[in-house]
Amino acid sequence: MYDKLYVGIDDTDSNEGMCTTYITSVILDELKDCGYTIEGYPHLIRLNPFARFKTRGNGALSFRLILKSEKEKEKIRKFILDKVGELAELQCDKTNPGVVFYDGEITDEMKSFSIRTIRDIVSIEDAQKLADKIGAETFKFKKGRGIIGALAAIGCELPDRTYELLAYRTGENCGTDRLLDEGSVRKMNDETYPETFDNVDDGYMAIEPHTPCPVLYGIRGESPEAVRKAHSIVKSGETIERFRVFKTNQHTDMHLQRAAKISDMEQFKCYIVEGEVKEKPQPIEGGHLIFILMDDSGEQECAAYEPTKGFRDIVRQLAAGDKLRVYGGIGEKGTLNVEKFKILELAKVYKTLNPMCECGKRMKSAGKDKGYKCPKCGRKLRNGLKEKIEIQRTIKEGFYEVPPSARRHLSKPLVRMFNNGLK
Ligand code: ATP
Repeated sequence: MYDKLYVGIDDTDSNEGMCTTYITSVILDELKDCGYTIEGYPHLIRLNPFARFKTRGNGALSFRLILKSEKEKEKIRKFILDKVGELAELQCDKTNPGVVFYDGEITDEMKSFSIRTIRDIVSIEDAQKLADKIGAETFKFKKGRGIIGALAAIGCELPDRTYELLAYRTGENCGTDRLLDEGSVRKMNDETYPETFDNVDDGYMAIEPHTPCPVLYGIRGESPEAVRKAHSIVKSGETIERFRVFKTNQHTDMHLQRAAKISDMEQFKCYIVEGEVKEKPQPIEGGHLIFILMDDSGEQECAAYEPTKGFRDIVRQLAAGDKLRVYGGIGEKGTLNVEKFKILELAKVYKTLNPMCECGKRMKSAGKDKGYKCPKCGRKLRNGLKEKIEIQRTIKEGFYEVPPSARRHLSKPLVRMFNNGLK
């Protein structure tokens, strides 16, 4: 008789270092070395990008072990808790690890708790209540906020999924510049895109993090085979301590919910919403671009922030009356951060010109309320009507997205939506 044991872990890192995926990898390698069986790939589940206490990408981890006896469970629990206690950044105020053990089936309530944690804000009490109800064991270090993510990672279904291979640095290299061979990253992208994606971005290596965490690089793709092949092509000038493939909800748009109308949307949630552009987008300080989306129910300020770089050149071409479907989340200041959008219908845009004179020359204004005068033949026109000329739009209907360097972990790139057949 074999028993399953789900393990969820979250909130172990700080801005100064560590990463829950790394702790999970260390735990899994040691468990494997001791002969334990891990079923399938560990899950890396990204949660609400607007959760207040996240360190960076709001990721939580889970995996499933196959156990031979009840006694093993006890040993494993102790081993995992000791490892988390040893490796987590416990000295950091904001680090409040949580570990959850669960040996039952995944219930509908657990699945909907996961969705809620991805799309909404939940409390430690909510997580504890559910854990008590289903008979999951929770372990809290300090405030133990991590039990929220740990439980959500266990219960998260993956109807759509991607894979990420994370390669880790040795301890002594953490915090120093990463020595990735750029040419090999480009070669890897040439040989594996679109089965892997978001590898490079206009000369920038998108697989490389820019934080002191132990990750050397992360390669995202459609299958374990694709990310492994890509990993075999990438070269680096430093030792890779270990690497691991995770199954993940990254790049699935799981964080987005459809809003029937603008007034239904709330802060700290992410939506797919349709509306009309109120007026031409306006630049604001910092290089950001702002526009208002409206429908019969209300208005929503939307932003293409400076880090979205060339995406702003697209947004700049929007005009009043354009009908859009916008994908993005409403953050701290109540502004919707646009991840991508589809132009459903372009508005007609006109320029107005003074009337033409009978002699073929365009007339000029004769002064305020004085009509028009021809600069060539001198003819005057008291009540001439301005001519309305349609301007050729410089943008087409269809989808537009932010570049890989500005993409949210959960945001589905267009290459996944179209090149691989809608998943
Ligand atoms: P990294 O991804 O780099 O490992 P992180 O960004 O995942 O770090 P954490 O250290 O895991 O950040 O902190 C996030 C904290 O917020 C965790 O304690 C998690 O349980 C909690 N949390 C996650 N999602 C929600 C949510 N929707 N509502 C409330 N709390 C949440």
